[in-house]
Amino acid sequence: GQFEKLPIEKETDDEVGQMGRTFNEMIELLEENYRKQEDFVSNASHELRTPLTVIGSYAKLLQRQGFHDEKIAKESTTAIRAETDRMKTLIEQLLHIARRSEAQLEITEADLIELLRQTTMAMKTSYHREFELIATEPHIPIQTDVAKFKQLLYILLDNAVKYSSDKIEVAVENKEVLVIQIRDRGIGIPKKSLPYVFDRFYRVDKARSRETGGFGLGLSLAKQLADRLGAELTIESVEQLGTTVSIIFSSDFNVEAVKSNEEG
Ligand code: ADP
Repeated sequence: GQFEKLPIEKETDDEVGQMGRTFNEMIELLEENYRKQEDFVSNASHELRTPLTVIGSYAKLLQRQGFHDEKIAKESTTAIRAETDRMKTLIEQLLHIARRSEAQLEITEADLIELLRQTTMAMKTSYHREFELIATEPHIPIQTDVAKFKQLLYILLDNAVKYSSDKIEVAVENKEVLVIQIRDRGIGIPKKSLPYVFDRFYRVDKARSRETGGFGLGLSLAKQLADRLGAELTIESVEQLGTTVSIIFSSDFNVEAVKSNEEG
């Protein structure tokens, strides 16, 4: 491997042997991390190269025939613009991942119900889809980084839109823990794929995701955001029936952002 392990005999059971084994376990973790980084860079490069190749080919076509063929000119410029947009999205997502914990959290007091109303309204307007907000309380005060929280919601709502065609429900339950669920009745996720959906660049169906513009980074970004906001993210899904993603704020999960239990 990349790192040198200590030659410790299995039978060595004294303190030195134990320390050696602990050391070797650390080496294994380091190696795994290193491999993940390498995979990440190679995946990112591959994803960036694909649109670049397409842009290059269309630019060539445009140069050769576009000046006397309007149809070709139109087709090429449309494709170039679409691929440029894809690259822009990817680079923005990569930057978000790279910056993960750099930016300070800006915790303010906000009303969760109002936040959900705003985000679903915005989604409704841009996607012409029906969203239903299900909540038993008219106001739930929370302390959070509003911009990051909205970003998290947008990723999850965006997925619900991409992978379903029905009404999308956003449900809030405020008991011992505060749970926000985004439920769609879409294509769902195969059971064997579920453990991987939070992995970077993982997509259940690459061809399909390409059509919808996804790189498989949305959920890993969402997880990263939820982590920082002190929430847990879980996903349940049944193929052909739909998917439910839960954002769970339990007040002891993280001290960085705590739900304000009282005056609700
Ligand atoms: P992408 O940008 O490709 O949507 P994500 O990281 O957001 O990537 O999601 C990873 C994969 O999980 C997606 O490619 C898709 O196959 C699946 N997925 C995510 N959300 C949903 C959903 N609401 N319904 C069905 N499949 C989903």
